[in-house]
This record gives sequence, C-alpha cells and structure tokens, in this order.
Amino acid sequence: MNTNRGPADRLKKLRQELVGIELKVPTMNGTPRRYVNLDNAASTPTFRPIMEKVDEFLGFYANVHRGTGFKSQIASWAYDTARRDVARFVKADLADKTVIFTKNTTESINKLSRLYPFRPDGVIITTMMEHHSNDLPWRRRARVIHAGLNPDGSLDIEDYASKLREHAGKVDLVTVTGASNVSGWVNPCHYLARLAHGAGAKFVLDAAQLAPHRPIDMKPSADPEHIDYLAFSAHKMYAPYGVGALVGDKQPLLNAEPDIVGGGVVDIVTIENAYWRELPEREEAGTPDVVGVVALAAAVRLLEAIGWDAIVEHEERLARYLLERLAEVPGVTVYGQSDAGNLRDRLAVFAFNVGSIHHALVAAILSYEFGIGVRSGCFCAHPYMLCLLGVGQQAAEKVRSEIIGRDRTNVPGAVRASVGIYNDESDVDALVDALKVIARGGQTGKYKMCKETGNFVPEGRDCFEFENHFSLTPRLPE
Ligand code: PMP
Repeated sequence: MNTNRGPADRLKKLRQELVGIELKVPTMNGTPRRYVNLDNAASTPTFRPIMEKVDEFLGFYANVHRGTGFKSQIASWAYDTARRDVARFVKADLADKTVIFTKNTTESINKLSRLYPFRPDGVIITTMMEHHSNDLPWRRRARVIHAGLNPDGSLDIEDYASKLREHAGKVDLVTVTGASNVSGWVNPCHYLARLAHGAGAKFVLDAAQLAPHRPIDMKPSADPEHIDYLAFSAHKMYAPYGVGALVGDKQPLLNAEPDIVGGGVVDIVTIENAYWRELPEREEAGTPDVVGVVALAAAVRLLEAIGWDAIVEHEERLARYLLERLAEVPGVTVYGQSDAGNLRDRLAVFAFNVGSIHHALVAAILSYEFGIGVRSGCFCAHPYMLCLLGVGQQAAEKVRSEIIGRDRTNVPGAVRASVGIYNDESDVDALVDALKVIARGGQTGKYKMCKETGNFVPEGRDCFEFENHFSLTPRLPE
C-alpha cells in the first residue's frame, strides 16, 4: 500500500488552490497563454485557503495589544498565537528564544546586526555563496571573512573550518545561508553550527530559501548543533503579505537599546526616561502587520498539514525532472550541482545559461512569447555569481565602469528557474520546450536591449497595457 498517497494527493489538489493558477497572460503573437511561474525563489504566490484565512481575519481586524474591544482582543490573541506557530515551525524554545516579526529576511538580519553585541575586534565569518542581505549588513558592524567554494559552487567546508581555526576566540558570529538562492545548494547547517560553536561563535542561519522547502530545527541551546538565530520571509512561503521573522536567543539582544523606538516598546516613559519592555515587544515598535502575521501563521499551518515528507519528495522529483529535461537543451550550462542522481543536498532552484545567448534575452523571450516567469541576472549574490561564472576582478571592474556610464549590456548573469510546491511536470515541460526553441533561435520576435536597464524588450512594441489587466481603482458601492 502506498502510504504517501494522502499527502501526495493533497499536494496535487493544492495546485488548483493556487491564487492565479488559471491566469492567462498576453504574448507577442496575440494568443494569451497560461502563466507558468518558475520564479518562486524570488517570491511565491499564495493559496486560496491562506487568502480566505486573511479575508476572514479582516472581519476581526483591529490593532493589537492596545484596545479592549472584542476585535482588539481577538486580533491580539491571533497575533500571539501566530508567534507560537512560528516558534513551533522552526522548533525554537520560547524559554530562551524570541520571535520578532519584521518586514522580511533583510530587515531581520539588519536588525540582528545592529543589536548584536560585537566585540571591538570581533570577526564575522560568512561564505561566498551569500545573498547580499546576509553579507552587507554585517560588513557595517565588524570585519567579515568569506569562506570559499568548491568548484561545483558548494561551500568549501575545509576552508570554512580553517578560517574558524585561524580566527578562533575572535569570531563573534558565523552566518550562513541555509540554501542558496542561486545554485540551490543546501548547506549542512547543523554541522557548520557545531564547528562555529567549537570556535566560540554564535551561529546564524539565513533561512529565506530553506524555510519553504525543508523542515528547520533550531535544537535546544545545550546541543552543540543548535542554531542561535535565524531569519526568513513569509513572501517566499506562500504568504506574500509583508512580514518576516527573526528568531533567536533573547539574552544578547537585551543588552542593546531597542533598534527602533516609539509606541509599543516601553513599559513607562517619563520626560527624563524610557523603560523598555521585554522581548519581543521592545523590537516591534509601532503598529505591526497583523494581517501579514496571520497569513504567515496560515502558511505555517498549511505546510505542516501537508507534511515535509510530501513536500521534499515532490520537490526532489521535480528537481530531478528539471535537471534531466534541461540537459536536452542544446548548449545549456547549469551552475552548481547538476547530478540528477544526487539531489538530497539541493533545492529545485537552477541557474543556467543557454549557449552564449544573453541571460536577459532568454528571460525576455520566455516571458513575451511563452508566458513563463523566471528571473535573470546575478540574483543579489554578486560575489557568488562571479565565481560560478568565472568572472575575474578585472572583468568585474570593467562592467562596473560601464554601468557608471549607464550601460548594462555586459552585466554577467544567468537565468534562474525555481520551483514551488504547486509546480508540476507540465511547468517544467513548458520551460524546456521554450528553451529548445530559444536555443535554435526559433523565437518569433526581434528584441532590443535597453542599455540602461540591461533588459531586452520586443522591437517596435510597447510594453503590456497593464491597465487592461489590473487597475488600482476599487469597486465603488453602487
Ligand atoms: N537571503 C536569501 C538566501 C534570499 O534568497 C533572499 C531573497 N532573495 C534574501 C535573503 C532576502 O529576502 P527578502 O528580500 O525577503 O528580505
């Protein structure tokens, strides 16, 4: 008997619940096409059950922790319950950890970087595969050292360990992505955490890409493999309503002044003094995005109900299928792990190029002629992309000077296709069939590059008439 049938069936049905699944988009030849979204690493659409939960909650919506009315109370209860849901989602023990709601991963990491009590000569170790959001905030606070890569784009763990040894005793924090938004590599975070703790450092996980695709376990603080802090964004896990979370140890954060001050962060204020509240309140100044938090909790509950076994199995199957089918495209180069027989350590996120065709042209043709949404460029991970593409410092400097001269023609990059739990083989087929056409130059349109943006647009065509598809004007009461 196939015991996986239940969850697998549920996943299949979930595809039909995707908001926008039936969307048809205009194409160059005038025939609308079903939109194929393979840009989930950037942001995910939502599902109808989540949207319905949000709509239902709006009937109860009120500000939280301020009013005494029924709506204020139920909204506060929903907000507090959602916080516990998030803690459960990442297995954080709220006895010593806190869940702070933010706008997104970027804000969470910036906040942590500002609050964390670095020593004056403290060092931060990160990796060459980080998104800028898990690199640039740290550079403002301490000396940042980047552990290197293996030729296949995975983290060079030997180099990571040797950098930890070299700076042992001085490393305040180690911060690593759970999974790459470029190559899909999943890092062995618990092993990396063990090494970091061994060197006396705290371990931070950028879980922006990991959270929607793999179960996370922060583990108890006494476990050498525990995660001290992590950050993620709801918009990458089917709840695009504007929130993210920072989860981690309370104590070090209590030594700092609150990051942002105003309403909600104080016990009492006199003209001379302000007495800060406990965590998490002192780090959530002003009115929070209660609706977004409710949506995040609904997404957490939806993912938990589907179950990680079903999610991982489904996405692994699609990753294998995508890799196998991409290999049929003449001239295709996949960056990073491209062995279809070994998918345990990667997400279904693929960066690739098709021969010498400009990455932005491939992405434009996919959109204008096939209704397929992907992303192209460097994916906010320039150091990593330059390594994967083999672009040296000198070539990078040349591109930089061209950009200053308002010319992005030669900006290096790749095309990225990334899968969500609702995608299926038909989406992969649509992508690969289109790539085959592009590889043989079979597109119907002619495209020109807009030097300033680095994007390609069809020659002699205006952009889509968006007002015909969506207007910001609400329906007015009759
Ligand atoms: N880290 C990683 C690995 C990411 O993929 C992203 C988003 N692409 C971020 C951080 C930043 O996330 P956000 O834009 O939601 O702040």
